Amino acid sequence: MMPVDISPIHFFDKQPVQAELQDTFDRKLNYLRISVTDRCNMRCDYCRPAADAYQAEPRSHILQFEEIERIVQVAASLGVNKIRITGGEPLVRKDLPKLIEKIAAIDGITDLAMTSNATYLAKHAQALKDAGLHRINISLDTLNPLRFKALTGSELQPVLDGIQAVKDVGLFPMKLNTVLMNGINEDEVASLIDFAVEVGATIRFIELMPMKLGMDWDKHYIPISDILAQEEVQARVDISPMPTGNTAARYLPLKSGKGEVGFIMPMSDRFCEGCNRLRLTSDGGLRSCLPEDKHMNLRDVIRQGGSDADIAAVFRRSALIKPEIGTYAFDSDADKRSMIQIGG
Ligand code: SAM
Repeated sequence: MMPVDISPIHFFDKQPVQAELQDTFDRKLNYLRISVTDRCNMRCDYCRPAADAYQAEPRSHILQFEEIERIVQVAASLGVNKIRITGGEPLVRKDLPKLIEKIAAIDGITDLAMTSNATYLAKHAQALKDAGLHRINISLDTLNPLRFKALTGSELQPVLDGIQAVKDVGLFPMKLNTVLMNGINEDEVASLIDFAVEVGATIRFIELMPMKLGMDWDKHYIPISDILAQEEVQARVDISPMPTGNTAARYLPLKSGKGEVGFIMPMSDRFCEGCNRLRLTSDGGLRSCLPEDKHMNLRDVIRQGGSDADIAAVFRRSALIKPEIGTYAFDSDADKRSMIQIGG
C-alpha cells in the first residue's frame, strides 16, 4: 500500500466545532512528537534499512523552524500540551536550541522533551536547558564499546560524556531507552539497570518493532517476558507488584528502592488503548499511528498558503483517521517506513 496523502481541501467547513483533539475512540490527543530531521550520525540497523537502501529527504522538503513553530501554535490551540522533539538525531539539525526556545514560548505547551542519542549533548546540554527544554530521553543499547560500534557505527564515549553533561546541567528527569535485541544486548539488561541507577536516570527497555529494518526482526526480537525471567534481572527488579503507568511504559520497582525500571511492549502488550499521540515527520507528514502509513502533509498545506484554520483541519482529520489499534505489516517491506524516517 502506498502512503495515502489525504487532501484537507473541502474538509475544513465540515468539521464539528471542537476545542480539543479527540479521535473516534474517545482518546484525547494532546501529545505531538516532532521529527526535526531524518538524518542521523549513527547507523543503527534497527532504526534504518540496510546500508544503501536509505536516502535522506532533500533539505528543501524538511520543515523549517518557523513552519514547525506555526504547526505547534495551531496544535496548542487544539489542546496539545506535550511536545517531544525527535529524529533522526535532533542535534544534527543546526541551531536546535533556537527551535526549542520558540516552542517553549508557545502558550499551552507544558511539557517539552527531546529524544537523542547523546553524541552531541556534551556540547549542547546547557544551551538546550537554557532554551527551555524540560527533559530528555537518551538511547543507549549497550555499554560495551565494541558492540556499540558494531551496532551504531559510532563511538560510545561521546554518548557517555553526553549523559554526564545532562547530569551536570541538571536536565532531569533523564530517561534511558534500550531497544532489546536477542543476540546483541539481551545479556546486558542487569548492567544497564545498574548504570542507570549510577547516573540517576530511569531506564526503559523497548521491544524491537518490525519497521523497515537493516536487521532480521525474527532473529533479534525478544519479548520483555523473557527478560523478566532472567535471574540477574529478578535480583534487581521486583516483579511481584502490578506494573504502574498508563502510557506506553509499564514500570516495576527496583528492589534496592532506588527507583523503577520501565518496559515498553509494542509487540507483546500493545498500549493503543491509552494512546494520545500524533507524529509530525520531518517532511511535514502528520501521522496518527506509528505503524500506519496514512498521513496528510502539513508542509504542503503551509507552502500552498494554507491558513491556521486549514492546519487545524488537518489535525482534526488526522485524529478522525486514527485507528483503534495499530498493526504491523510483517509480510512486505513495501508499505513500511523505518523509524529514522518517521521519528521514534
Ligand atoms: N536519534 C535519537 C535517538 O537515538 O534517541 C532519536 C530518534 S530514535 C528513532 C528514537 C527512538 O526510536 C530510540 O529510542 C530508538 O531506540 C527507537 N527505535 C528505533 N527503531 C526501533 C525499532 N525498530 N524498534 C523499537 N524501537 C526503535
